[in-house]
Amino acid sequence: MGGITDQLNGIKDIKSNMLEASRIRWLEDWSERIGGERLEHTRIRMNSQLCYKLAASVIIGCFIYFSVVSFRMQGEQVLLIVLIFSRLWPRFIGIQANLQQIAAAVPAFTALRELQKECFDATEISGGGAAEHDVKPLQIASGIECRNLSFRYEGSAGAYALRGIQLHIRPKEMTAIVGPSGAGKSTLVDILMGLLQPESGQVMIDGQPLTGRNLLSLRRSIGYVPQDPLLFNGTIRDNLLMMEPHATEEELYEALHFAAAGEFVARLPQGLDTMIGDRGIRLSGGERQRLVLARAILRKPSILVLDEATSALDMENEAKIQEALDRLKGHMTLIIIAHRPSTIRNADQVITLEQGRLAGITQAGKEGTAGAETPQSARVVG
Ligand code: ADP
Repeated sequence: MGGITDQLNGIKDIKSNMLEASRIRWLEDWSERIGGERLEHTRIRMNSQLCYKLAASVIIGCFIYFSVVSFRMQGEQVLLIVLIFSRLWPRFIGIQANLQQIAAAVPAFTALRELQKECFDATEISGGGAAEHDVKPLQIASGIECRNLSFRYEGSAGAYALRGIQLHIRPKEMTAIVGPSGAGKSTLVDILMGLLQPESGQVMIDGQPLTGRNLLSLRRSIGYVPQDPLLFNGTIRDNLLMMEPHATEEELYEALHFAAAGEFVARLPQGLDTMIGDRGIRLSGGERQRLVLARAILRKPSILVLDEATSALDMENEAKIQEALDRLKGHMTLIIIAHRPSTIRNADQVITLEQGRLAGITQAGKEGTAGAETPQSARVVG
């Protein structure tokens, strides 16, 4: 099923690269294997039923034979016993069928128990998980600090995705993270959001290590815009309200305008009530990104994390988002993974990663010289 879902999601790639024949062969191979397994399953079931029925017939035959020959029972007595047996037999068959069902379900049950155990072991917060409204968002006062962070992915053959990262993200400032692909930018952001646990080192929030309860509070205060935005098959309104169910129409439009999405939503014939299709397929890449940005802003987070959120935008819309981000500067902590120089132009701090290591931290000059906030004129401190 996973494979078929992938094929359906990638139908555009498959058709444009003319991969239909190989994909159909793949599906036919699988269907053949599944067909073979079904056949084998039926054969085993039928064989066991055959053995069972043969054994039952032999036992009944022996019983009647010994009753008549050895115990010299009368015909009526044998008939009575056969009658009693014929009444009891369906019960035996029922028990046997139930046992067979239990035996068939045992492997699935065991796998489910193992999965359940794995989930319990991976629980972030013990004690039943707090309801979202019980968790108070954090107001960061002195900032987020990484102390000698190192991280390796499981099965990465010992290669570090991050090594010895030491940095400080100041509150209400814009911090950009740059570096070549595979440098560890997304991994660093995942650790900052508490989605990954560092192998060594610590993330400190206002001087407190990131653990337990403050992890949920941190998440509550984060608005995250991923590279590949996740939208659900529903209306634009549904997708916005899932983040903030009590938001008013005004707040929805305010967030949309802020994310430069107000215009395109207003142009749609059904506006906020337009169905956007599976994963937002009826919208363009840029429109999807702006909608997800609006959704993140709607929550009024104190930390906004953007993972290359402007990568799919044209210059005009990128400029609009840039303006929106500039307006947010000073009101919330912005952490932006960036590729384009335009995204980092107004950053207060630019963190450069290379092969999992910190290659430099550039602070925007604060001396007030012309263009002081551009990285070119900035001061390299790390
Ligand atoms: P960036 O965001 O800078 O492009 P990433 O943080 O995604 O880089 O990846 C850093 C390194 O970690 C890369 O070498 C990548 O191959 C590896 N990596 C990323 N995600 C995983 C994963 N889930 N499992 C194993 N290795 C991963």
